[in-house]
Amino acid sequence: MKILVAVKRVVDYNVKVRVKSDHTGVELANVKMSMNPFCEIAVEEAVRLKEKGVASEIIVVSIGPAQAQETIRTALAMGADRGILVTADNAEPLAIAKILQALVKKETPDLVILGKQSIDGDNNQTGQMLSALLGWSQGTFASKLEKTDAGFSITREIDGGLETLSLKLPAVVTTDLRLNEPRYASLPNIMKAKQKPLATMTPQDLGVDATPRTVTLKVTEPATRKAGIKVKDVAELVGKLKNEAKVI
Ligand code: AMP
Repeated sequence: MKILVAVKRVVDYNVKVRVKSDHTGVELANVKMSMNPFCEIAVEEAVRLKEKGVASEIIVVSIGPAQAQETIRTALAMGADRGILVTADNAEPLAIAKILQALVKKETPDLVILGKQSIDGDNNQTGQMLSALLGWSQGTFASKLEKTDAGFSITREIDGGLETLSLKLPAVVTTDLRLNEPRYASLPNIMKAKQKPLATMTPQDLGVDATPRTVTLKVTEPATRKAGIKVKDVAELVGKLKNEAKVI
């Protein structure tokens, strides 16, 4: 089984994001960038499927600037076999899904694994759009994935419990936080990853128009919260809620 995994390069989740002074976006200069955490989980799951003998090849795709190669190399060091970089800046989820659709046509994987969400855009759209474009089964927010004779059994965390679905292949799966704990790549594997194949192409090569359809008008910081106060006892708290906050 061939697996395609989509990985996005985003601002590292530990970085405190700052808005640019002209409000056109967030500051990216000299900011640590990493693989989107949900995409790390996607790579880890694919590697585990390969280790179990379920998968035979893992292809990692990233759409972004030339530096997204580093993100692909990280995935290769975790255990993926080869990478594809599609160079495009600020492509929107629909364009990303169309690019992935074109790559699916070219590479014919049986399973595509994506993160459920990118932590920068918070879109939560790409996996769903891709399965719609392909007409494939979809299992979103997977917290457990098991190979069955029919395809895969996937467990999803939903409000109030767990839902288990049976997916026929080919399928698109998106990962939730509790699916697995991604491994750290070892130094020998980081060195080996430098030799693994990495192809570069453009959206045009794949026949996709990745021109953005929306314009960001303004990005602003959230309003700063006022400092809280300490109260002596419940009577004072109730008094303040009643007379100052006027909420009771
Ligand atoms: P989103 O729909 O933007 O929240 O992203 C969901 C998932 O789609 C991510 O976790 C990735 O697996 C994939 N994805 C989104 N943008 C990209 C990108 N630029 N390159 C590769 N994969 C992406």
